[in-house]
Amino acid sequence: MSGDGHFKVPAPYNEPIRTYAPGTRERESVRDRLAVLSDVVSEIPMTIGGDRRKGASTRPLKSPHRHQQTIGEYQVGAKKDFRDAVDAALAAGPAWAATPFQERAEVLLRAAALLAGPWRDTINAATMLGQSKTVHQAEIDAACELVDFWRFNVYFADELHRQQPFNDQAAWNRTEYRPLEGFVYAVSPFNFTSIGGNLPTAPALMGNTVVYKPATQTLLVASLLQRLLEEAGLPAGVINLVSGSAADVSEVVLNDSNLAGIHFTGSTAVFQGMWKTVGGNLERYRTYPRLVGETGGKDFVMVHESADVDALLTGLIRGAFEYQGQKCSAASRAYIPKSMWEALRDEFAGEVDEIPMGDPADFRNFMGAVIDEPAFRRHSEAIEFARRSSNAKIVAGGVTDESVGWFVRPTVVETSDPSFKLLQEELFGPILTVYPYPDGRWEETLDLCDRTSPYALTGAVFATDRAAIQQASRRLVNAAGNFYVNDKPTGAVVGLQPFGGARASGTNDKAGSALNLLRWTSPRSIKETHAPPKSYRYPFMDDPTDREGGF
Ligand code: NAD
Repeated sequence: MSGDGHFKVPAPYNEPIRTYAPGTRERESVRDRLAVLSDVVSEIPMTIGGDRRKGASTRPLKSPHRHQQTIGEYQVGAKKDFRDAVDAALAAGPAWAATPFQERAEVLLRAAALLAGPWRDTINAATMLGQSKTVHQAEIDAACELVDFWRFNVYFADELHRQQPFNDQAAWNRTEYRPLEGFVYAVSPFNFTSIGGNLPTAPALMGNTVVYKPATQTLLVASLLQRLLEEAGLPAGVINLVSGSAADVSEVVLNDSNLAGIHFTGSTAVFQGMWKTVGGNLERYRTYPRLVGETGGKDFVMVHESADVDALLTGLIRGAFEYQGQKCSAASRAYIPKSMWEALRDEFAGEVDEIPMGDPADFRNFMGAVIDEPAFRRHSEAIEFARRSSNAKIVAGGVTDESVGWFVRPTVVETSDPSFKLLQEELFGPILTVYPYPDGRWEETLDLCDRTSPYALTGAVFATDRAAIQQASRRLVNAAGNFYVNDKPTGAVVGLQPFGGARASGTNDKAGSALNLLRWTSPRSIKETHAPPKSYRYPFMDDPTDREGGF
């Protein structure tokens, strides 16, 4: 279907969040789906050029909260498979680029409708099982945020296309939003199903074809999303899903002369490694690859003496411990006036120690397990480090249990050292470090917060004093790409708070906004002259007097 017309894209809206409260139908149906998925070992193939592909071997995929249970068998692809994925993306490129925008957009709008409707329970249940999310965390991520990405990106792409140059009387000037020349490499992290859905589809919406490597821990849900997108009409070869060693995939993909862009979310070290490889290969590429990376964080909560303490406590618990602190935006350091901290510490610690944690299939739990054994070991070591440090103490949690799943109790560390390691380094787990700062030292502490870590992703200020809010906003202007006033630093919503940070936190291309989509297009300016001139001479040359000299 094509044809003329300025098609109006549907106005986007945020997918309403279901409650899953006792007695609701949605609660029963997601539970049923979770039980079905928990009972089987799902086959997880790669998808290359529309074909399901097996690798040289398979590996078991385990559930974080039941690490003895295999939930799937994924394929370990070889370099030949990754080469084929590049070739499939390149082969599908011209037809996809020539597909009218409204056709590409409809694939995503249909995917959004499928995810909001018949696929919702499956994608939520796979996220609960594979990534150990509670039903609420799965719902706001895997269902709502991904639906929002798909709906809003269509709207933002359309807005971008409407940005056109001025015209004079002589010509019609047009900007054509071409896809990049080559293919895009999308690499996603374990912690958000929505990011896994967005990283390959945002470039695809703009006409690009993609080699997609999801985080291994998410392969169950990633392969289901691939099927969903196919059901929505995504043609073969537009998104090619591979699995196996990330280093092997990268070796093939980053060395290909047709690499046109990287859409990455994950740790700072991996992104920096990819950037270095691309830098080293620069002469090899046909075009400068676009590098878009959203990376680590050490997100702060900055508390003024005028803060509302109840709002602060809720913000700290939700901000630091929801999804086990494994959100890139999770609060992991807090600066609280000393006297306020001393007054609230026991109540806060008591509440943290009562947080229900366990298998997300039990809906009474607020937290599940951390993603895998390496994460569990990293958090256990950080807790031991805090326990042994003379200038820190554990005031809540500090307990781990690996007997059934990778469980780390939400932990609060108090330190008297403003440059304590746990205030600087990303841990990506349920560990919040608090630095109680001397009363009255607000402005110095703002500077301290700004310089303590290399990251600049999210941050929150809690204060009721307007002057303090303004000071924090000014002094921390480059400390966070997403800045919250009297709210937790997590929970950005597509279309409402475009997300991304700078410094070591990424290229700040704001996922789910026109700024991100802009990176996946290479505009061509077209000037078409209505009546081209037929003589090279200009009027100023028509002087009747004789030329003097001249050659
Ligand atoms: P990770 O860096 O370990 O893995 C991310 C992806 O990179 C995975 O798919 C992994 O397989 C792949 N990878 C690993 N080595 C690679 C290599 N050599 N070449 C190519 N790909 C490679 O991160 P993770 O543990 O999955 O996710 C947690 C990290 O992601 C945290 O640092 C977190 O802050 C960050 N994160 C950031 C944002 C954001 O918006 N800024 C959002 C989510 C997560």
